[in-house]
Amino acid sequence: MPEKPKNDLLGIRYLSAEQIQALYQLADRFWEVLQQPTRKVAALTGSTVALLFFESSTRTKLSFELAAKRLGADVLNFSATGSSLDKGETLLDTALNILAMGVDAFVVRHRGVGSAHFLAKHLPVPVINAGDGTHEHPTQALLDTYTLYRHFGRLEGLTLTIIGDLFHSRVALSHLHIAPKVGLSLRLCAPPSLIPALWYQLGYPIYTEVVPAVAGADAVLVLRMQKERQSYPPIASWQEYSRFYQLKPEHLRPGQVLLHPGPINWGVELHPALQAWPHTRILDQVTHGVAIRMAVLYWLLRG
Ligand code: ASP
Repeated sequence: MPEKPKNDLLGIRYLSAEQIQALYQLADRFWEVLQQPTRKVAALTGSTVALLFFESSTRTKLSFELAAKRLGADVLNFSATGSSLDKGETLLDTALNILAMGVDAFVVRHRGVGSAHFLAKHLPVPVINAGDGTHEHPTQALLDTYTLYRHFGRLEGLTLTIIGDLFHSRVALSHLHIAPKVGLSLRLCAPPSLIPALWYQLGYPIYTEVVPAVAGADAVLVLRMQKERQSYPPIASWQEYSRFYQLKPEHLRPGQVLLHPGPINWGVELHPALQAWPHTRILDQVTHGVAIRMAVLYWLLRG
């Protein structure tokens, strides 16, 4: 296939600080659009976006679909269950066949690390990584930081603590890449068995206890235990995990913002009483996700 210059969004690691700022600015514009009664623009009319989700998703898939539709694009929804994957068709053949129907961009979620990179190499249209195994989830880190930016009016100088399954979370890895580019100070907190050994060399403060990790932070991002990716139990019992690592109301001080990428397992990583935490921005993250994904689609297809 001939090389064609094109843009992809495969990971935060490939974005410059300037590109991230430009995406926030685009998201601000699309946020305004979403406040209008029609909530729609014709920016991508005539384009078709294919959603290829080989792993479960609620927020990311629906929000990409809505983002594309709000921009006037057509959306093709591929579902792995019931497709010809059952008959042995490969990932690339599947994508090439969908491309042949006339598709302008692919949004891909797959459990294989590097799967979006692989497709991007072989497809002549933009590919967006919507989560590749334990690797990256760039739009999640963009929408999390965009939520903080909208809440505080800035990111520079803020401290964000991330608590949870750092070892298996693609959200955590994307945050490691975005934090220095937007001026966030990051703190990391997990049981020792869920801290990748190499992360000790990155220079971020690493905690194995919640209280000091959270004290004085501007925001706390709590991660789900990625049980589907854990090959061995990382902690003696889930009861013990909740006892020592669950974020509870008494850990937070007024003004500290609570974030979670979802899905939440209430009672495991988050105490159910935090449903009433006045500074939760968890549903705002979901709302902002649409504006951020509109920005990403527009940037890749028209930018
Ligand atoms: N929804 C996020 C992801 O797909 C976080 C999670 O599943 O825990 O990585």
